[in-house]
Amino acid sequence: MQTVETGDQEIVDVHCHCFAGVGQAGMVSRGLAQLRKAGVSHMAVMGLVNTSLNAQDVWKLIPEGFENLGDPLFNEADELLEFSQQNDPMLFPMLDTRMLSGAVSSFLQEHLNRGFRGIKGLYLADDGNDLALASVPETFGISLEQYHQREWEIFAFAEANELPVLYHMDANRYGSVMRALLDDFPRLRINFPHFGIGRKAFGKILDRYPNVYTDIAYMMPHMQNSPASYCDYISHYEDRVCFGSDALIYQPEIVLDYVRLVRSLKLPVEIEDKVFSANPRSFLGLDEGAEAETKTG
Ligand SMILES: [Zn+2]
Repeated sequence: MQTVETGDQEIVDVHCHCFAGVGQAGMVSRGLAQLRKAGVSHMAVMGLVNTSLNAQDVWKLIPEGFENLGDPLFNEADELLEFSQQNDPMLFPMLDTRMLSGAVSSFLQEHLNRGFRGIKGLYLADDGNDLALASVPETFGISLEQYHQREWEIFAFAEANELPVLYHMDANRYGSVMRALLDDFPRLRINFPHFGIGRKAFGKILDRYPNVYTDIAYMMPHMQNSPASYCDYISHYEDRVCFGSDALIYQPEIVLDYVRLVRSLKLPVEIEDKVFSANPRSFLGLDEGAEAETKTG
C-alpha cells in the first residue's frame, strides 16, 4: 500500500494560489519536492496582478483566511514566474485577473509571452457574491456593463489562445450570466471551482456544456459531511471533476490532505485516476503539444 507521502499515482492539482515571494523560495521548493514524492506532477498556481489598487482596496477583493507572505499589494506575477522556472516543469502559472484595469488583451498577451499558461477570474458583479467580497464595479468605479465587457474580453482572449480559465462563479445566483458566457465561448476550457458553489444548479450547466469542468478545492468539510452524495456526483460527472486544493504554494500539507480526502471516498479506481490526473490534464491542456512533457526528459 502506498502512503500519501510517497506514491506513483499521478496527481495534478488545478487550483492553488501563490501568496508568496522570493523570500519564501527555499520553503516553496522544499514543499514542492515533498509533493513530487507523493506523485504530484503539476500544480496550477494562480498569481495575482494589481496595477492600480491601494492597500486598503486590494483587501476588499481577497477572501479572509489566507496568509499572504508575498507582495503586500498582491503583485505576484514576477515571483510566480520565478518559482515556475526554479521548479520547472512542475508549476503551471495562471494569471489572476480579478484586479485587472486598463487594456485587457495587450496586458494578457504580455503575460502570456512571459510564461503564463492560463487565466483565473472571480465573478464579483455585486456584493451578493458567495465570498462576501466587494464588487469589482464598485471597487473600480465602473458600470456593470463595463465589467462584463472586461470579463468578455478576457474570455475571448483565452478562447483564441486556447488557455484554460479557472473562474469562481456561483451557478445558483449567476446562472444566466454563466449560460450567456458559455453560449458565447463554446470552445473555452473553463473550470468553475467548488462544484460551481451549488451542485444542483451547476449540474444543469454540466449537462448542457461539454467544455465545462469543476474542482473539489475548499470543499473538504462538505465532502466529509456527506461523502456518499459527493461520490455519486463525481461518478455521474466522472470526466469533469478535477483534483484541486486551494492550497497556497507553500502549503504542501493542504494538498496532501486533499489527496487523502479523495482516497477516503473509495471511488472506483478508474474514476479516482480521472479526478487526480486525466481530467486535470484535459482541462489544463497538458497533453496538447509535447513541449510541456519533453522538458521532463
Ligand atoms: Zn481558490
